Amino acid sequence: MVVVLSKGIKEADKAAIRRFLEQHGFTIREIVGEEETILGAVGIAQIDLREVEVLPGVERVIPITKPYKLASREFKKDDTIVPVGPVKVGGLRITVIAGPCAVESREQILESARIVRESGAVMLRGGAYKPRTSPYAFQGLGEEGLEYLKEAGEREGMPVVSEIVATEHVEMMRDYVDLFQIGARNMQNFELLKRVGAIGKPVILKRGLAARIEDLLMAAEYLLAHGTENVILCERGIRTFETYTRNTLDISAIPVVKKLSHLPILVDPSHATGIREKVPPVALAAIAAGADGLLVEVHPDPEHAASDGPQSLYPDQFEKLMRDIEALSPVIGKEMQHLPARRAAGSAAGVGSSAGGASRGAGAGAAGGAGSGVAAGGASGARVSAGGREGAAASAGAGVGALKVGFQGERGAFSEDAAIRYFEHDEVEAVPFPRFRDVFASVLDGSVAYGVLPVENSLAGSIHENYDLLIQNPDVQVVGEKKLRIIHNLIALPGAKIEELRRVYSHPQGLAQCAEFLSLHPHMEQFPFYDTAGSVAFIAREGKQEWAAIASHEAARVYGMEVLREGIETNPRNYTRFVVIARSGHAEIENPNRASLVFSTPDKPGSLFTCLKILAEKNMNLKKLESRPILGRPWQYMFYLDLELPSDLSAFDDALSRLRGESEDLRVLGLFRV
Ligand code: PEP
Ligand code: MN
Repeated sequence: MVVVLSKGIKEADKAAIRRFLEQHGFTIREIVGEEETILGAVGIAQIDLREVEVLPGVERVIPITKPYKLASREFKKDDTIVPVGPVKVGGLRITVIAGPCAVESREQILESARIVRESGAVMLRGGAYKPRTSPYAFQGLGEEGLEYLKEAGEREGMPVVSEIVATEHVEMMRDYVDLFQIGARNMQNFELLKRVGAIGKPVILKRGLAARIEDLLMAAEYLLAHGTENVILCERGIRTFETYTRNTLDISAIPVVKKLSHLPILVDPSHATGIREKVPPVALAAIAAGADGLLVEVHPDPEHAASDGPQSLYPDQFEKLMRDIEALSPVIGKEMQHLPARRAAGSAAGVGSSAGGASRGAGAGAAGGAGSGVAAGGASGARVSAGGREGAAASAGAGVGALKVGFQGERGAFSEDAAIRYFEHDEVEAVPFPRFRDVFASVLDGSVAYGVLPVENSLAGSIHENYDLLIQNPDVQVVGEKKLRIIHNLIALPGAKIEELRRVYSHPQGLAQCAEFLSLHPHMEQFPFYDTAGSVAFIAREGKQEWAAIASHEAARVYGMEVLREGIETNPRNYTRFVVIARSGHAEIENPNRASLVFSTPDKPGSLFTCLKILAEKNMNLKKLESRPILGRPWQYMFYLDLELPSDLSAFDDALSRLRGESEDLRVLGLFRV
């Protein structure tokens, strides 16, 4: 049963409830949610729920109707996020675990780790004990394989996962793996489940070859009941009459599991299909269907793999798949998970010592001029700078604890979402500000470490105010970017009905982007508001049943409102690009691959052409070019450029120094990684 506790319950009452349940043979788990705290009680005892309901401090009691209790959504309504070292599985992330079927040698797994890490995998797989159909097939390297796997993971900064096949390996393996894998053949090896569950480490549990979804959830229940709270489910295909593929991927298991359970679910497209060529399409389908990630086999030399070669991706196939997932994830409102940036070899220890790069300010080589604060300096400093996000947090007065990130708008704003997603590895305290300029001011005075600002919408174009603020604040630097799909929702008080609505509030952009929906509902009068999330807060405050707002899902959640209609934007290809700003010199991103520049050109024929030619000659790809009037200088224009940086940054340094000679007021707004 789930016992929902009253808000502000006294500790003594809580202890009494616990005691009562324990005396009746229940095991208790306390779950502190954002809205309520519950005690989940499971056990074999039969009890009249009314006996619990009458205890002081009990708000209500909900029976769990499913045979699996701890694994069920009834027990816990929020998604479980499973931490595995720096990786978090579940929620809004897409986690890709990759590596060979089996560890075959030290060299092979080191090489595999390097390859999959380079393409963006966040965890390394590699079997050391292989449950093979034939006793004559390669059985794995055993403990020696685990040693190599651990070494490879450490080298690349990736947690590792390996399959456990026998209870007697539990103690030995716990020191080698960050995540235990229970394979399809062992899904119902209940003694193994009990022993592995009792270790308390995270476990990935694969669906058995002939297991129903309920069997999978019951197996997960064993793990949860015996101690671990961190279980990841894995759909890897089931046996059917079909023979063209090794197994049949049950893609519908993903939404079914999502509804029944709070546990994250990954998909293994490799064992599901058994054929390399089928892996990428099936993998993308799984992500589109809502899987929290993939467990995929990749081998540096699949032709010579000791096991599962035909289904192992070549490194370049894996790289392509990762790029496709990256492109797909914003469409479904998720983020590809990345490992925290690695420090460059020989990097300086602290942020203070990162003197080079675009943050050198108006130092040597600056062109000066026109009060626009020209910051110059080469890019190569970025190669030896350190710290990135952590560095800025420490030096920008955020203090210990959460990283403070400023955004414009009210709680639940799209910018807040962008901030939380960008700083996926940090505990973030998103700080709302009324105006964009307040975000700049707070970054400058150090009261927040970073700011997150929208600069461009794929339908509506640039948000010029922020570009202008970037020019006006030379001590602020762009250090990152985040693209977010903007999904608008019609939000009202719980219980409100669309037909009965009379007014709809939102930011003018929000209203404009939902024009088609609004034209089909002319009974709602449109009221522009300063902010999307603010309009939700406003209606919540006013308590008007016949008013609605257009904003994000998150805004509805924050203000306890109901989403009446999801995704009402006219064009679903609606993305906003946000930039992350920091004080110049307070955050250097390693291995930047993007630069943002701004400059003006002399008033003579071919001057812009000359500048662009320099970039063309250096083979630098232009991602954006836009002109803007220069404030206070009528009919004169600045050009904004976003460039793809080459891996050899000295080419960019050269281009910059030549550009400086041809342009005016050149400023590097920032170097960052996308
Ligand atoms: C594996 O992941 O290598 C494996 C053996 O998978 P499954 O248990 O799904 O067959
Ligand atoms: Mn395999």
